[in-house]
Amino acid sequence: GSFETVRTRYAPSPTGSLHLGGLRTALYNYLFAKKHRGQFLLRIEDTDKNREVKGAVEAIIGDLRWGGIYHDEGPNKESDVGPFVQSERLPIYQHHAGLLLKKGHAYRCFCTVERLAETRSRASEKTGASLYDRHCLSLTPEEIEEKLKKNESHTLRMKVPDGITIFEDVVAGHVSIRNSQIDDQIIIKSDGYPTYHFANVVDDHLMRISHVIRGTEWLISTPKHIMLYDMFGWEKPIFAHLPLLTNLDKSKLSKRQGDASVGYYKDQGYMWKAVINYVAFLGWTPSSHNTTTTLNTPPSAQSKNSQDINYSEVMSMDQLVEQFSL
Ligand code: GLU
Ligand code: ZN
Repeated sequence: GSFETVRTRYAPSPTGSLHLGGLRTALYNYLFAKKHRGQFLLRIEDTDKNREVKGAVEAIIGDLRWGGIYHDEGPNKESDVGPFVQSERLPIYQHHAGLLLKKGHAYRCFCTVERLAETRSRASEKTGASLYDRHCLSLTPEEIEEKLKKNESHTLRMKVPDGITIFEDVVAGHVSIRNSQIDDQIIIKSDGYPTYHFANVVDDHLMRISHVIRGTEWLISTPKHIMLYDMFGWEKPIFAHLPLLTNLDKSKLSKRQGDASVGYYKDQGYMWKAVINYVAFLGWTPSSHNTTTTLNTPPSAQSKNSQDINYSEVMSMDQLVEQFSL
């Protein structure tokens, strides 16, 4: 690609506290950026105000700092305040949605919640799929004009093109999906807020993100993101979707599980380096064997107090940076 510098980001939604999975994602992005003398950005994806938890942003930043992870840049580059906050960038998304509308890659949808629910249940009876039926794609310019004059509430949807979408993922490999399986995703909600997919792509482009490193749960969303990049004619970043973080017995980490949160270890007085080493080596081992022992037991099996920690077994952040590769 033609990205001049490596730039990564961690993009949490402020819906709760930082979990070990989130810490690992943030850490990998941080290590990868630092290894390549690039920048690591923090972006708060708070476009779903219903799911927002008060104080979550401060808590996430506090937990990242506890883990030695500091972000670069902010909306005011000189003063380096950060993080970027999507709810403060609404005009940017609306402007870009307008560009897609003009190019015919997006369209207005005036369907009511009731109509959408009805068509969805009818469609799933027949085919099992629940794609939007493109009802509003056939509105005439006059009809649209009329509805806008009456101030009818509406969303903007991306118009999924025909064909197939293909991309390479660093972890998942070659991915290919038929576009007919993909919904005409809403990109701007009726309240003027962008959806996750749209704000995420616009920001990754504007922030010149070269590598998107995130949890595997976003792999299925990536074709939609690829389509958006193509509609805008933007260069795509490299994608790496990390395998799901599980408990030792392979069960999924849950939000209710106290010891899956970073705050738990912080409050219990664990050494941050032990926790950072623990998450660093989940799903990744350094290629050289001469430095340390791999910590493959959870930090609960590690000592809690600094005097009990054998620091020769724990890598410093600098060592992790040096050793890290995707
Ligand atoms: N806001 C998404 C999250 O909470 C970000 C996913 C991504 O990194 O693209 O995980
Ligand atoms: Zn519609």
